[in-house]
Amino acid sequence: MAVTTFKILIIGAGPAGTAAAIFASQQGWEVSLLDRRSDLFVAEQTQPRVGESLPPTIQPLLQNLAIWEDFQKAPHLPTYGIQSRWGSDKVVHRDYLVHPLGHGWHLDRQMFEQQLLRKAIDGGATFIEGAVLQEATLGVDKWQVTWQAANQQNAQKTFDFIIDASGRNAWLARRQGIDRLYEHQQLALIRFLKTPPDFSDSTGLIETTPNGWWYTAQIPGDRLSTAFFCRPGKETRQAWGTEAGWEALYANAPSTAARIAKTNGVLTSPRFVAADSSRLENFYGPGWVAIGDAALTLDPVSSHGITMALVTARDAIKAIKGNQDGLADAFASYDAVLTATFYQYAQQRRQLYQSERRFPDSIYW
Ligand SMILES: Cc1cc2nc3c(=O)[nH]c(=O)nc-3n(C[C@H](O)[C@H](O)[C@H](O)COP(=O)(O)OP(=O)(O)OC[C@H]3O[C@@H](n4cnc5c(N)ncnc54)[C@H](O)[C@@H]3O)c2cc1C
Repeated sequence: MAVTTFKILIIGAGPAGTAAAIFASQQGWEVSLLDRRSDLFVAEQTQPRVGESLPPTIQPLLQNLAIWEDFQKAPHLPTYGIQSRWGSDKVVHRDYLVHPLGHGWHLDRQMFEQQLLRKAIDGGATFIEGAVLQEATLGVDKWQVTWQAANQQNAQKTFDFIIDASGRNAWLARRQGIDRLYEHQQLALIRFLKTPPDFSDSTGLIETTPNGWWYTAQIPGDRLSTAFFCRPGKETRQAWGTEAGWEALYANAPSTAARIAKTNGVLTSPRFVAADSSRLENFYGPGWVAIGDAALTLDPVSSHGITMALVTARDAIKAIKGNQDGLADAFASYDAVLTATFYQYAQQRRQLYQSERRFPDSIYW
């Protein structure tokens, strides 16, 4: 009797989706990886993606994905720690010098995603880019999925299982009627600046102000990534997004202002992106599971979003395999671990925010 190959569709080729594709191919499954973006392999994206700090603990995960060697050869910058001014005027240094795995990293995020995607394709995954999903319907035990790829007719294919790795948008989970629960809502006002050749500061810098907090990090390509985390109303949002508004925001953040003063040009305009902490009400359902930001989003202060994307990718593949092998509670265990992780994270996030008591009149704090 012919053995049919398990066919899996992964929606989203960010860190979670590409990692899942690599792990799924290692199982010998037939993997399709679909993304609505079509700029994943361009030399320079017009709208660079944010999220670039990786802790030293990322190393074993990258080894599991068999990209650790390639990762080390790429021009990602080592970072030796974080400086923060949070809860007092004193700048506190938390360095990685004594960490058993060494330093952390400030990524070239685009290159990192390309490295993961290349590995997934080399491992056998079929990559479908620029694809607009139209329908995903679960029949008796298979999904019928329709999409339209750039300049092409509609395509329809059957899959045994779908992984939702579509980021905080959670395309499939939303269509299954799963609610998103918000622990904390905020936006990030992001902007990339140009740094001169003599700019050299390998630490990430966090600094609170009455209206929110700043994060800045030097990244490869002579760039400074900046983000201001805040919760503006509609009118304030418009004002802060202007050149003058953006400049006024770091006036209360002396260390950040000193860093920005050393830059020598702007690369992008200020732009708001979502930066909330949230989770799906359920992380799985019949024939699907959610991973990465689709499953849960963490406050960037944790610098753990990408790590969580890779961990959930690994654990979801284990759950799918466990379920195939007859483990009745494989998905329930996956769900329980994510629920506990998010609960613990939420407690820590609240404690951290409560430790900033200098701005009692501020709506943000
Ligand atoms: C301001 C900011 C700073 C951050 N800083 C850090 C940091 O320093 N360190 C860190 O570890 N994390 C950081 N994060 C979080 C980190 O970026 C995310 O956790 C990580 O990108 C999650 O990866 P993902 O693959 O789950 O989702 P994403 O990276 O969002 O990837 C989702 C993919 O799905 C695709 N997609 C979406 N919808 C569809 C659809 N309908 N059809 C097809 N494709 C679709 C998207 O195009 C995208 O490619 C930060 C986040 C923010 C907002």
